[in-house]
Amino acid sequence: MNDCLFCKIISGDIPSNKAYEDEKVLAFYDIAPQAPVHILIIPKEHIGSAQELSTDNNELLGHMFAIARKLASEKGLDCSGYRLVTNVGDDAGQSVKHLHLHLIGGKTLKWDN
Ligand code: AMP
Repeated sequence: MNDCLFCKIISGDIPSNKAYEDEKVLAFYDIAPQAPVHILIIPKEHIGSAQELSTDNNELLGHMFAIARKLASEKGLDCSGYRLVTNVGDDAGQSVKHLHLHLIGGKTLKWDN
């Protein structure tokens, strides 16, 4: 998608600090980390948010979670714990309209909405 920030990161038009990449997904470090570990996991296919997912995306979604688990383990978060979150729409504060999982950890996380 032409005007999508994360599509530009996928294409390489905008640089990112990559944590993982394959043919289906890209993971990169958040530019404004909320914790010692803050990685974004995104599909290479443009999907606006979780609200746009269908059963056709079940395999992709499972793959995104598998990559999240792998990265969490690599970062040593598998025992201490971590948060996986995806914001949907304005009330949730979704600022980039391309599906992404936030992998956040490395400290005790609060839940203050
Ligand atoms: P959300 O607010 O849930 O849509 O999350 C979007 C995330 O993208 C925020 O945590 C931003 O800090 C992050 N972000 C925005 N631009 C960039 C960028 N160029 N590189 C890495 N992360 C970014």
